[in-house]
Amino acid sequence: MAKAPPGAPKEELKRHNRHIANIIDLNKCMGCQTCSAACKSLWTSREGTEHMRFMNVSTYPGAGYPRDYEKMGGGFDEHGEPSPGALPNMVDVGDALTFNHAEVLYGGTGDSVHLQPKASLTGEDPEWGYNWDEDEGAGEWPNGYYFYLPRKCYHCTDAPCLDACTHNAIYKREEDGIVVLDQDLCHGDRLCVEACPYKAIYYNPVTEKGEKCMMCYPRVEQGIAPACDRQCPGRTRLFGYIDDEDSDLYKMINVHKVALPLHPEFGTEPNVYYIPPFESTKAFAPDGSITDVGRIEMNVLEELFGPNVEAVVRKLREERAKKQRGEESEIMDLLIGRNFWDRFKGFENDPAEQVIHFRVPGKA
Ligand code: SF4
Ligand code: SF4
Repeated sequence: MAKAPPGAPKEELKRHNRHIANIIDLNKCMGCQTCSAACKSLWTSREGTEHMRFMNVSTYPGAGYPRDYEKMGGGFDEHGEPSPGALPNMVDVGDALTFNHAEVLYGGTGDSVHLQPKASLTGEDPEWGYNWDEDEGAGEWPNGYYFYLPRKCYHCTDAPCLDACTHNAIYKREEDGIVVLDQDLCHGDRLCVEACPYKAIYYNPVTEKGEKCMMCYPRVEQGIAPACDRQCPGRTRLFGYIDDEDSDLYKMINVHKVALPLHPEFGTEPNVYYIPPFESTKAFAPDGSITDVGRIEMNVLEELFGPNVEAVVRKLREERAKKQRGEESEIMDLLIGRNFWDRFKGFENDPAEQVIHFRVPGKA
């Protein structure tokens, strides 16, 4: 159901009473891809969606997903109008590679054969794919470094994808601010993809429409956290209403202020926040001794999270030192997250016990 007809003011489409938000703790992400697999099996296992990963996890530094999305542009221009960036192609968004599963699993060749991509969507030799540069990272041996960066749509408060759509197919839900793309109104012209600086909208060549993360709203409506958040075995995630003052999420973002948006310079007010990596493996000195200097330099983090990250990293280190001295630290207790359900206040319901009715695009 469209929120407002084509031609209605964009303010009407952006209006919302409350807003949900996410926090992802990068110190605890182990790159296991359980979140992306949970999302993929729930939402993008249909024809035309093979290449899509609404939830994805890349190695940073690296090309990211879609490939080189940070260099593709989008966002707003100096007049506040959506700025068209480049369109990722099917290879950039991961392709739909086939693998030698049968050979590895049933070939009887033991460990002499390893899993590898065999062909791209077009039947040619693959040149790129999802996580093609996994665990490569950066830095000179022996001081190489990397961390994992899970990403999805940021459900921006000021969403340029919404502004760019000439058919008003994109809007924010009144009740929770989730940004959704109405399949019935979409004309597939990809103005939203150009405008999104995070490149979080994907083109379905079968339906010829755009698709994106909808924050699992059919689950959210029944008090169930999104699949990527709930399934994360690393307990990296917090999910809830950003104005719920009793929630851990609220305390991390608004009281302790240790959760930061990705690329705040894009100016879209994203609603997925990150706890930045605040301690990295110590670097080796040329003589082989271990120094006190972490391998991830501050400018690497500033490129991602802006100038506030230095103060946040300092605060997190101080809080951890308190805990090591046996003192109290609410921040560290919240980050540890001993009680799984505290992380999803108001969204603790079990999906196995709920009846969820939703229409998957492309299915009756
Ligand atoms: S499921 Fe959690 S730990 Fe695993 S990759 Fe996703 S965010 Fe990281
Ligand atoms: S991340 Fe991109 S697709 Fe998601 S709301 Fe923001 S601009 Fe739109």
